Amino acid sequence: MKIDSLIVGQGLAGSLLAWHLIERGERVLVVDRDELNTSSKVAAGLVTPLAGARFNLPEGLETRLDCARAFYWKHEEQSGQTFFHHRRIARLFQNETEKTAWENRLANEGERYARFHEPLTVDPTHFPAPHGGFEMKEGGWLDVPSFLEYTRQSLLERAAYAIGRVDSDDIALEDAGVRWKNVTASKVIFCEGWRGNQNSFFDWVPMNAALGDILDLEIPELAREGRIINSGGWLIPMGGGRFRAGSNYRHQFESESPDEGGKAEVLAKLGKITPVDPIVRGHRAAVRPVIRRSRVFLGTHPAHHQVAFFNGLGSKGVLNGPWFAGQLVAHLLDGTALPAESDIAGNHF
Ligand SMILES: Cc1cc2nc3c(=O)[nH]c(=O)nc-3n(C[C@H](O)[C@H](O)[C@H](O)COP(=O)(O)OP(=O)(O)OC[C@H]3O[C@@H](n4cnc5c(N)ncnc54)[C@H](O)[C@@H]3O)c2cc1C
Repeated sequence: MKIDSLIVGQGLAGSLLAWHLIERGERVLVVDRDELNTSSKVAAGLVTPLAGARFNLPEGLETRLDCARAFYWKHEEQSGQTFFHHRRIARLFQNETEKTAWENRLANEGERYARFHEPLTVDPTHFPAPHGGFEMKEGGWLDVPSFLEYTRQSLLERAAYAIGRVDSDDIALEDAGVRWKNVTASKVIFCEGWRGNQNSFFDWVPMNAALGDILDLEIPELAREGRIINSGGWLIPMGGGRFRAGSNYRHQFESESPDEGGKAEVLAKLGKITPVDPIVRGHRAAVRPVIRRSRVFLGTHPAHHQVAFFNGLGSKGVLNGPWFAGQLVAHLLDGTALPAESDIAGNHF
C-alpha cells in the first residue's frame, strides 16, 4: 500500500490532521489503537475563550477561535450532525482577586474584551456567586466522541483507517519516506497523545501529562439552566437535568482508572459552584497530553525529514487544534515556518 501520510493515533490531533491533509489531496492512512478511555474520548470539549484566573486573552486567540468554529461548522454541514454546541458561560468569580483582575482587564483592554462578555444574572439559590461574575460569549463545547466517530467512518469509506498499534521501532526510514509493515508513505506523523514520548524518535519531549476526572450527574433542580457554569470547576448542561462536571489535574498518578479521590476532587469543586446536591451517574478519567509549559508541540523531527509530531493539545485542544493542524500541514506540504514557540525543530527546552 502506497500513501502520502501515515498518521499514528486517531484522537483529536490525528483526526484534525487527517482532515487537513485530505483537503490538500493527500492519501492518508490513520492507525489507532482503539482504546476505550483516551483523552479525546473522555474530554469535556469545552471552548472557554477567557480561561484562567487572570482572564488572559493571548495573542492570536481570536484567529484560532474563528478557525476552530469554521472548521467544526464545515464538518457539521458535511455530515448533517451537530458537533459544536454553542453555549454562553456563566463565569462566577472565585474570590475578590479574580474580580479585581477582571475589572482591570476591562479598564485597560475593554475594546478587545468587548466581544466576549455581557452582564451576568443568576438565581442565587442555585448559584450564590458571592463575588459576582460575568457572562462569557463565544464559548461552548465540542462533542469530541461524535466528531471522532464521524471522522473514523469517513476514513473507513476512503479505506484510510486501521485498528492497530504502530511501534516506532517498526518504522523503517528510507530516503523517499518510511515503511511500516506493507505500507510505504512519504512521511509518518505521530499523534499519540500523552504517551507521545514513549517513542524512540521523540523520547526527549518533556511530557507533563495530567490525569483528569469527569462526572456524569443528575441535578433535576438545575434542569432549566442552559449555560455552562465555570468557577474553578465547571458544569455543562446536557439537557433534561443531566450535567457533566469536572475537572481536576493530577500530574502524579499510578493508574489511569477513575478512583474515589478523583471523584471527591470534582465534587468539592462543584460544591463551590452550587449548594444543590447532585446524583452521580457516571465517572470517567483519562490523561491529557500536556507538554512542559502547556505548549502545543509540532513539526518535523530535527534529524529525520520523514518523521513528524503533533501533540500537547492539553486542555485547550478543541480551540487550538484546528489552527495548529492547519499550520502543520502548511509546514509539511509547503515548507512554511511554524510558530517558533511550538516548532519541535527549535527544541526550546
Ligand atoms: C478529563 C479531561 C477533560 C478535558 N477537557 C477538555 C476541554 O474541556 N476542552 C479541551 O479542549 N480539551 C479538553 N481535554 C483535553 C483534550 O482531550 C485533548 O486536548 C485532546 O483530546 C488530545 O488529543 P490527542 O489526539 O493529542 O490525544 P489522545 O486523545 O490521547 O489520542 C491519541 C490517540 O492515539 C492512539 N495511539 C497512541 N499511541 C498509538 C500507537 N503507537 N499506535 C496507534 N495508536 C496510538 C490512542 O489510542 C489515541 O486514540 C480534556 C481531557 C481530559 C482527560
